[in-house]
Amino acid sequence: MTSLAQPVARQPVIEHMHTVAGQIGRHVQFMEVCGTHTMSAFRCGLHGLLPKNVTLLSGPGCPVCVTAQGDIDLMIDLAQRPGVTMCTYGDMMRVPGSRGSLEAARSAGADVRVIYSALDAVRIAEENGDHHPVVLAAIGFETTAPTAAAAVLRAHQQGLDNFSLLACLKLVVPAMTSVLTLRGRSRRGVEGFLCPGHVSAIIGSEAFRPVADEYGVPCVVGGFEPTLMSQAVVALLEQVRDGRHDLENLYPEVVTPAGNRIAQRWIDEVFEPVVTRWRGLGTIPESGLAIRKAYSGYDARRVFELHPVVAPEPDGCRCGEVIAGLVRPDQCRLFGERCNPTRPIGPCMVSGEGTCQAWFKYGRANAPKPSCQSVTPPETDGP
Ligand code: SF4
Repeated sequence: MTSLAQPVARQPVIEHMHTVAGQIGRHVQFMEVCGTHTMSAFRCGLHGLLPKNVTLLSGPGCPVCVTAQGDIDLMIDLAQRPGVTMCTYGDMMRVPGSRGSLEAARSAGADVRVIYSALDAVRIAEENGDHHPVVLAAIGFETTAPTAAAAVLRAHQQGLDNFSLLACLKLVVPAMTSVLTLRGRSRRGVEGFLCPGHVSAIIGSEAFRPVADEYGVPCVVGGFEPTLMSQAVVALLEQVRDGRHDLENLYPEVVTPAGNRIAQRWIDEVFEPVVTRWRGLGTIPESGLAIRKAYSGYDARRVFELHPVVAPEPDGCRCGEVIAGLVRPDQCRLFGERCNPTRPIGPCMVSGEGTCQAWFKYGRANAPKPSCQSVTPPETDGP
């Protein structure tokens, strides 16, 4: 029987990871672009198990964090309009806008409801009656887009006139290519992506093919368990060692090459790709989803005549750079004492999938090595 005092043997996958990293013989860094990967890596201590010359950065994968400050302001402004019911997911409530948050707006009397499913908002619209508008603030990636589309289709089927959707939905692949452009493919660039398991289940692993083929950057689709994430890092390291840039799917029990066709059909039926503003990455062509003309009666931007807002990040907050993997959370002077999960200043500390919150909760011992994120932040055209 193993004594508790004895050191626990390292898993073979970790041993193999160290062997391959040693064969590369230089520093190499990869990026994950999924909030669940971010939290899973910190929670299981993966960063502390990585070889000294390997860094795993957290990129633009947290839905709340990548939502532009201007869109958060729009949500708050809309929630404060008389008679409007604003529906959103829990994490959005505490994200600070330029003037308060949805939570503060609710305390001041606005009707803001936390929902667990997009269809909850449709149900509230049914209950509210024709003259009481209900808006669903839809954030997130291809994982939440199908249910947002389903909500619009349901409202359309039922002939609801009082339901609309404020689309702030984003697409992962354009964000990945934008990160590569921002950082450049220099020695300090991202040399491989751990592709998001949930998004991949919807869009299919083949959606990442252009990143591997056209940008020459290895892509590995991975699951969320510590072993699965470790195996994905090993696969990335092997590609770097062998000079390959392939697309590999190490999560085949969930992710197929083509993805979920039904979910894709729903997205295509309701939304179309448009240029969109991201926190930290500026505006990226065809990186967001807007409601198609056929369903414009459910588009909150049209119904309420909303115009795009460009707003600065909270004073001193470096969330934009954290999201792009350019600085570590502890390089923000507000980290810890002034900004923490109890009193968050930026979305990366608010969200349960945010990198700043992960650093705060799981400690610096588990965090990526300091050597990695030290490039000069690029000029972007806004939050
Ligand atoms: Fe923003 Fe707080 Fe993170 Fe600083 S520590 S980047 S203020 S969320």
